[in-house]
Amino acid sequence: MLLIECPWCGPRDEAEFAYGGEAHIARPTEPDKLSDAEWAEYLFLASNPRGTYLERWRHAHGCRRWFNAVRDTYTHEIIEIYAMGSLPKSKLGIQAYEDSWRRGSAAEQNAKRGSAKS
Ligand SMILES: [Zn+2]
Repeated sequence: MLLIECPWCGPRDEAEFAYGGEAHIARPTEPDKLSDAEWAEYLFLASNPRGTYLERWRHAHGCRRWFNAVRDTYTHEIIEIYAMGSLPKSKLGIQAYEDSWRRGSAAEQNAKRGSAKS
């Protein structure tokens, strides 16, 4: 069982939380401009590292708020908790963010182009 530090409620048992999957997945704003292969990559490929992973959690049986975590998938150590919409500040978190295959993906480039217009 993990002990997870909710940024608002403090340390709580893992059973109070809902796992929200990988963090920092950019949603394409113009999906029709992606090729079938690029769209399939966005929809079906998932990171599954042995080591540092950036993920989303929700305190489902508490304050119900979302937050991000940097967690080692091998040791289950939670290295950092940080706010939704922000980037990790720990060295391992920054490294995991920059090393992610998603940083150069067509879906992320598409999302950036779309957000630049609005
Ligand atoms: Zn909470």
